[in-house]
Amino acid sequence: DKINKALEDDRCFWSFEFFPPKTQQGVMNLYDRIERMCKLGPLFIDVTWRWGGKSSDLTLELCANSQTIYGVEANMHMTCTNTNFGLIADALEKAKDQGVQNILALRGDLPDGRAEFDPSVGEFRYAVDLVRYVRRTYGDFFCISVAAYPEGCMAPADVDRDIAILKEKQDAGADLAVTQLFYDVDGFLEWMAKCRQAGVTMPILPGIMPIQNYAGFKRMAELCRISVPQEIWDRLEPIKDDDQAIKDYGIEVAVGMIQRLQAAGVRGFHFYTVNLERSTRMVLEQLGFVPAVSDVRPLPWKPSLSSKRA
Ligand code: FAD
Repeated sequence: DKINKALEDDRCFWSFEFFPPKTQQGVMNLYDRIERMCKLGPLFIDVTWRWGGKSSDLTLELCANSQTIYGVEANMHMTCTNTNFGLIADALEKAKDQGVQNILALRGDLPDGRAEFDPSVGEFRYAVDLVRYVRRTYGDFFCISVAAYPEGCMAPADVDRDIAILKEKQDAGADLAVTQLFYDVDGFLEWMAKCRQAGVTMPILPGIMPIQNYAGFKRMAELCRISVPQEIWDRLEPIKDDDQAIKDYGIEVAVGMIQRLQAAGVRGFHFYTVNLERSTRMVLEQLGFVPAVSDVRPLPWKPSLSSKRA
């Protein structure tokens, strides 16, 4: 079914993003994780997309199987730039055939070293071109979501231009927007107010990524060019070598963010799970969105054969 239908009532909801693992074992583990995490009642799950190899096939497979086996709605990401039109048309047909009715329409990143769009490689330049194509070709069959950037998409950031682009994507047929992750709640709320003033009326789901480890978080903040409040850096610095303490603090940050967003009237939250379960589950538990189960932490030591008792 289409996820935008479920957005019509006033209930609070959450969704989980996953990415296709590289190994068969990783895929099996992810299915187990999705099965467990579906018990946390997400409105939908997302699976990211990458052209090349079998990655995009796996994205569709994960979406279709999760819908059939676990009964959860799946939102399939799809990028369009620098890709042959036939491949995109084919992937959309396959999604339709397999009952995947939700597409997150994206431009995708330009290939390394290429600063400009190359029309000889593919017809779609921007995400809005894919939104238009999907609406024109499939009418209302798909719910179309699009990406939004509270702190701007490209460097240098031009937030006003990006809001105009978001509006253009809405006018082309997008049903909802999912944001890039962020940690500056005040900044997000100001940006959201600007979007509403600019006529963006579709639901906007804030992207929440519980911090998992120091080095990865620092890298990601630089890569995505997101501003992190100084208070967060100050709390992270003394615990940066203690992964468990970082994860626990990451949960605390996410809980605090969601509470503030909820108080400001936001009622849907999109989790960047990075294919991990515990932090997202703990955040939902601490918010009282799901019942708490006893938290089994990993053992501080690894049992070895020699230490095993008969
Ligand atoms: P667009 O909306 O097309 O915007 C990109 C830039 O192009 C804009 O900042 C603007 O500079 C310019 N632009 C757009 N439209 C116009 C116009 N009409 N006129 C002039 N300029 C214009 N990447 C992946 O490869 N796979 C994924 O699964 C994936 N999932 C994502 C999920 C989310 C929620 C987000 C936020 C990002 C995701 N990305 C993913 C990254 C995304 O592909 C990149 O950020 C990409 O560079 C921009 O994609 P977009 O859809 O936002 O592009």
